[in-house]
Amino acid sequence: MIPIKLSKRQLEILEIVKEAGPITGREIAEKLSLTRATLRPDLAILTMAGSLEAKPRVGYFFNPQSEVRQSAANLAKQIVNNYKAHPIVVQKSASVYDAIVQIFLEDVGTLYAVDKDGLLAGVISRKDLLRAAIGNNNLEELPVSVIMTRMPNIVTVKYDESLLDAAKKLIHNHIDSLPVVREVDKEKDMYEVIGRITKTTITRAYVELLEI
Ligand code: ADP
Repeated sequence: MIPIKLSKRQLEILEIVKEAGPITGREIAEKLSLTRATLRPDLAILTMAGSLEAKPRVGYFFNPQSEVRQSAANLAKQIVNNYKAHPIVVQKSASVYDAIVQIFLEDVGTLYAVDKDGLLAGVISRKDLLRAAIGNNNLEELPVSVIMTRMPNIVTVKYDESLLDAAKKLIHNHIDSLPVVREVDKEKDMYEVIGRITKTTITRAYVELLEI
């Protein structure tokens, strides 16, 4: 669905129908002190958009599903850049021990590893760290570069992509977090990390946009 921007009068009509529906076009016109003919295009738009339903000889009804669809459409068109959180990064030469400390200190589920130029080199999740810790008692000597998921296998999202695209990437790849990146050199898989989008980000956006 393509979200449409309603005019002030169309919003007024929706309010009237919500309160008083079913209601005829003539009754709506009376409430707004307008003629039926003036309202006709607005009613046609609202009906086509699915916000109103018209029953012959009964009048207009409000369709509550349309509000849900509108909210979902609003969520879908939000841009990653406005929701991204601060990325928590470690040098790829850092030890697994330091990464574990970092993940607790920063209270995150995923760390991003960068190379000496600050470019994205890897992703380290909680389970990556747990797996590395099992049976290994020298975590201070083990660099995260050995256990991380590395380029070119990292799923990223660009800052100008939509939240819907980010959510789809999380779901389709069965992962919890996406580094938000700015391209430095796409051919060479060189990206600067400028944020993170996680399942929590998406959940928070959902609540913010649907809470009245
Ligand atoms: P966890 O492993 O703690 O359940 P995830 O589900 O996010 O967390 O990670 C699962 C695996 O996918 C891990 O091995 C991790 O390195 C990898 N991973 C996590 N995020 C990404 C990403 N954005 N791109 C590629 N791989 C990722």
